[in-house]
Amino acid sequence: MFGNTQQGLLVVLSAPSGCGKDTVLSELDNRLEIRRSVSMTTRAIRPQETDGVDYYFVDEPYFLKMLAEDKILEYTSYSGHYYGTPRQAVDEWLRAGETVVLKIEVEGAENVRRLYPDSISIFLVPPSMHVLEERLRKRSSESEEEIQSRMTIARSEMQHATQYDYIVVNDRLDDAVSDIRAIIRSERHKTSRCGNIISEVIHHAES
Ligand code: 5GP
Repeated sequence: MFGNTQQGLLVVLSAPSGCGKDTVLSELDNRLEIRRSVSMTTRAIRPQETDGVDYYFVDEPYFLKMLAEDKILEYTSYSGHYYGTPRQAVDEWLRAGETVVLKIEVEGAENVRRLYPDSISIFLVPPSMHVLEERLRKRSSESEEEIQSRMTIARSEMQHATQYDYIVVNDRLDDAVSDIRAIIRSERHKTSRCGNIISEVIHHAES
């Protein structure tokens, strides 16, 4: 954790489905100290996924109960399923001064911007829509109909990219990860987030 950070940094990362944001995030996790929020979803688990790690896979009544109890910070309905960010862990990490990454879609990003004006947002884009479609096909976890639905959503999501603070192209994985790391590192050094460092330094000099 950053000793000089007065409050945590909330980072929203969005990307069209299939853009490789999970790979980017895992790699980022190895190179930078971050907390990754685990979302709750009502969609079916994919073969390579683990419950409690990739998502909390829940049924609709449970999701709606969490929502009614105000335990979901933001949520959306995407491709026929609910996805939401559990509130408690995020708020605790932020209070502890940590960097928290939310991997969410554009509507959720808009809500988080409103709820947490100090948050920053990054939009990861594929090098082209053609590459995106290829990546979705390679994953082969969705039906043709689902792939087409995700491509339609992706096209409309791309229109929202300019609402984000930063845009990163995921062409070469290593470059995309380095770019995001650089963004987070410089944001952590913003004067507004390091208010207490000056008094800490002065205090140390005197003791
Ligand atoms: P997938 O089904 O491919 O895992 O996710 C579909 C979309 O839902 C992705 O764009 C993903 O970032 C987004 N998503 C995942 N969790 C959440 C969440 O908690 N809130 C919101 N708003 N979007 C989410």
